[in-house]
Amino acid sequence: MSGKVLIIGAGGVGGVVAHKCAQLPEVFTEICLASRTKSKCDRIAAQIAESLADKLNNPIQTEQLDADKVPETVALIRRFKPDVLINVALPYQDLAIMDACLEAAPEVKVDYLDTANYEPRDEARFSYEYQWPYHDRFKEAGCMALLGSGFDPGVTNVFCAYAQKHLFDEIHTIDIIDANAGDHGLPFATNFNPEINIREITAKGRYWQQGQWKETEPLSVHGTFDFPEPAVGAREIYLLYHEEMESLVKHIPGLQRIRFWMTFSESYLTHLRVLQNVGMTGIKPVEFQGKQIVPLEFLKTLLPDPGSLGPLTKGKTCIGCVFDGVKDGEPKQSYIYNVCDHEACYQEVQSQAISYTTGVPAMIGAKLMLTDVWKQPGVWNMEQFDPDPFMDDLKHYGLPWKVVDGKRYHGQLPDVL
Ligand code: NDP
Repeated sequence: MSGKVLIIGAGGVGGVVAHKCAQLPEVFTEICLASRTKSKCDRIAAQIAESLADKLNNPIQTEQLDADKVPETVALIRRFKPDVLINVALPYQDLAIMDACLEAAPEVKVDYLDTANYEPRDEARFSYEYQWPYHDRFKEAGCMALLGSGFDPGVTNVFCAYAQKHLFDEIHTIDIIDANAGDHGLPFATNFNPEINIREITAKGRYWQQGQWKETEPLSVHGTFDFPEPAVGAREIYLLYHEEMESLVKHIPGLQRIRFWMTFSESYLTHLRVLQNVGMTGIKPVEFQGKQIVPLEFLKTLLPDPGSLGPLTKGKTCIGCVFDGVKDGEPKQSYIYNVCDHEACYQEVQSQAISYTTGVPAMIGAKLMLTDVWKQPGVWNMEQFDPDPFMDDLKHYGLPWKVVDGKRYHGQLPDVL
């Protein structure tokens, strides 16, 4: 018998996490799904009740919760008494939910997990500097917080820990490359929360080299990468800042450079450019008919809900890390990656692959915490734990991965910097 899980957030990712936890009733003995809009929790709970009726120990409980309000979350934690809390609301809620976990202790000791680092609403600033300082308080409370247990961050950090443990004596460079070759047939839609997604993409690019961060203009650095998965093929990849680099530069000794790349279609970028040029992606309030509105929040209400893309999206994702370094005195290059199929994800959990590739690692992280495999009070990033049990679980629970050495992998990274 393992324990009870409280999932906060009933969007695309929350739906996948709830399905995947429900598939493992021997680990997740009771599930409570709480979110701002309760009807979304009820819809997910009904889907699961239908697809897993004979497997479930108990029906999934649902609750209305505004996780920005710490006392509401504390009250729910005290009522439901979860062993682990999976936060898949938005990055804005991270600190309030971590505060609630601390406040509920010692009466209820709950471990915390999220998939994206805290962001202040009024500044697109992606940094662990807000969450790392909780380390001592979590440690004193005897609670664990696992940060960034999605795919990127998340699985990409674990790929790095695996390469460090098994493939290299020293890793010199890491390139994290994220391709979504899915097509939903719509002119413009984001595949996870539009507000968070557009804030990330329109921010300046940043990479780390020889101990220093270097900044680039948004989407200005790009090149072509030939993905090993034929359904993905050769695609244009763009340099972005991504949060896992901040922890990896601390935890991978000997690292000389790390960069993050993502694919975008020309049509996606054209739409984005137009929206940016007319000011629709702004995050500062503007006055409209006597009211203050944030253009990006308004845009979000017009764009398709990422959850609605599930039945429409066809094609595959391919996300992984290319490593350069040294093994047994010889230079070496390796590539670790996962390929995920949008339609197969939809068949299994009624969601497209972006939510799936985030929700499965969140479930695995929580499983390893509940079963005491990854267990240490304090605040941690994924690469600080033994990667092997996580890598095994990825294969079992829907995200198999491959390692190819440099001689065989098909990619040619842009040498633009
Ligand atoms: P969605 O917008 O689809 O879902 C977010 C959910 O959180 C919604 O149900 C929303 O409620 C709920 N929510 C928002 N504010 C509150 C609040 N104050 N209290 C309670 N619930 C709230 O987002 P996604 O599912 O696409 O993404 C979820 C998280 O996963 C995000 O943090 C995102 O950054 C992260 N992510 C991480 C990835 C990774 O690989 N690491 C990749 C993709 C996403 P309502 O329905 O009322 O709006």
